[in-house]
Amino acid sequence: MTARGQTKQGQDYGRHPAKVTSDRLLTACQQWRDKLSDDEQEALLSAHLILERIAEEAAEPRELLPCGTVAAYQRHKRRGETPCEACKQAHAADLREWRQGRQALR
Ligand SMILES: [Zn+2]
Repeated sequence: MTARGQTKQGQDYGRHPAKVTSDRLLTACQQWRDKLSDDEQEALLSAHLILERIAEEAAEPRELLPCGTVAAYQRHKRRGETPCEACKQAHAADLREWRQGRQALR
C-alpha cells in the first residue's frame, strides 16, 4: 500500500488518484496486450500518458518529479522546452518498456 495521509499543514500526500489509475491502466494494458489490437494498445498508452500529465499538473510543486522521469519529459513539452537528455531517455525507456510488456521502471 502507498502511504497516505496529511502533512501538519493539512496537505494530502501519497500518489495522486490519476497516477494510481494510470499505473493500473498500464498494468492492465500489459496483461491484456495479446488480446488488444495495436490501435487499442496505442489508445491505452495515450490514456496512460494523459493521466500521468493530470497527476503531474494536479501535484503540489513539492511533488514535481525531477528530470529523468516521464513526467518531467512531459513538463518540458508543455512548457515548449526541448526535453533534456535525461528526460528524453526516460521517455524513450518508458515507451520501449511498455512495448516490451514490462512495467516501466521509474
Ligand atoms: Zn529534463
